[in-house]
Amino acid sequence: MNESAKEEQLTPEETPAQEEKLSKEKTLAEQAPPSYECRSCGYVYVPSKGDNQGKVPAGTLFTDLANDWRCPVCGVRKTQFINIGAQGAPSGFAENLDYGLGINRLTPSQKNILIFGALGIGFLFFLSLYGLN
Ligand SMILES: [Zn+2]
Repeated sequence: MNESAKEEQLTPEETPAQEEKLSKEKTLAEQAPPSYECRSCGYVYVPSKGDNQGKVPAGTLFTDLANDWRCPVCGVRKTQFINIGAQGAPSGFAENLDYGLGINRLTPSQKNILIFGALGIGFLFFLSLYGLN
């Protein structure tokens, strides 16, 4: 019954099939929404987390934030933020993940996050062993 209505909504320029094809040509990191870092205080806006203080729901892209949105830590404007790329996503192409880690594609700050993040997780895991009886 609703099928004729559905077909009308799909314009020739933006079919789901084409979108899928485009996304396959990007790395996983490029597919994930980029995070933005405050140049003033180092606060990082992560789209998948949003901003609790600014009442920004998780999943909001930085570019979709209101123009009067301010850094929740130091209060500077959006223009003071720089794109630092996707965080928490593999940087290589999906089909290459088995062959290499794509470390060369990471920025130094991303490498630090990777290294210290892994150390932190390992340390927490180590501590959790004390909780076992
Ligand atoms: Zn800030």
